[in-house]
Amino acid sequence: MDLVKKNIAPRFRLEGTLTEAVPYGSGHINDTVRLTCELENGKTRRYILQRMNDDIFKNPKGLMENIMNVTSFLRNKIIQNGGDPDRETLNVIRTVDGDNYLVDEDGDFWRMYIFIEDATCFDIVEKPEDFYNSALSFGNFQKLLADYPASTLHETIPNFHNTVSRFEDFRKAVEEDTYKRAAGVQKEIRFVMDREPETHVICDALAKHRIPLRVTHNDTKLNNIMIDNKTGKGLCVIDLDTVMPGSALYDYGDSIRFGASTGAEDEKDLDKISCDLKLFEIYTKGYVEGCGGSLTEEEIRMLPMGAKLMTLECGMRFLADYLQGDVYFKIHRPEHNLDRARTQFKLVADMESKWDEMMSIAEKYL
Ligand code: ADP
Ligand code: MG
Ligand code: MG
Repeated sequence: MDLVKKNIAPRFRLEGTLTEAVPYGSGHINDTVRLTCELENGKTRRYILQRMNDDIFKNPKGLMENIMNVTSFLRNKIIQNGGDPDRETLNVIRTVDGDNYLVDEDGDFWRMYIFIEDATCFDIVEKPEDFYNSALSFGNFQKLLADYPASTLHETIPNFHNTVSRFEDFRKAVEEDTYKRAAGVQKEIRFVMDREPETHVICDALAKHRIPLRVTHNDTKLNNIMIDNKTGKGLCVIDLDTVMPGSALYDYGDSIRFGASTGAEDEKDLDKISCDLKLFEIYTKGYVEGCGGSLTEEEIRMLPMGAKLMTLECGMRFLADYLQGDVYFKIHRPEHNLDRARTQFKLVADMESKWDEMMSIAEKYL
């Protein structure tokens, strides 16, 4: 921490005198530090300093360009709406040289934000209201960016939610069968193969412009929202590393996948896994309300498909990783990735059995 304080922090445009640097937050991707500076008038300014994870993000320059462009767009929108642009969006602090990130002597990448005061991130959804609030926030994020030219953003992780290419990766893993595990999971492989035609649905709709290309967040967890300490409402969507061009159905669908499931992602007892329609309804309501009329009718009709395809995609990735010897997702027991794949497929099957209800919930918002 001393090194960060001495060598890294002073290379950014800080106000006042740096007095403290402490590790901060419970993010799993970046190393996050909170800095405190004292001003001459006795007040303090705080900042968030992050060492970016360059294992995961291979294109930090493109990533920071995305963040700069999206946050300056948001800043203008928030000012127009009479909001507080220092608290309702991330704001990048430039380096002394005027760059939006810093590369240190070890080749590590660093960036800095204004610290959002009087707000908190929560790690776990404790009550349905938390889930609803996160839907409102991510919907609102989508609304503010609805007229952003999404195609100008860098695709920092190529084909992140391209279910067609994800399926091809899966098929390849099955064919190669490097670890001779395919024979033991024929049922699961069949489950995916049977649904190959559906992996095209969102990609086709995007390609044919039946649904718009949008700015997507791609990490819609509750702890990527700052909740205002006074109002208890969502204040700011943070963690914009995975902002990319895509479909609103991706963000929505992924939230349903992990938030509306009745069990943990790696639960072994599949009887405990189902899609809770109450939670599905709550999130759908919050998301559509948050989007404030910016979703098209076709997008609303496709919400259940978004939920199903994001779940299937995730299951395919877990199963492919199992077949490839668990190289991508960290495992804590043998067959951990297989267990994870099975929960996702159980969820998909459960959604299929509840399809008509899911459709009627979505269609309420047409
Ligand atoms: P990760 O990708 O590792 O999750 P995040 O960007 O989400 O990194 O940051 C980790 C944590 O740091 C957040 O969950 C939040 O608690 C805190 N944090 C990040 N940015 C800010 C900010 N601008 N103001 C206040 N706290 C922040
Ligand atoms: Mg985070
Ligand atoms: Mg992150």
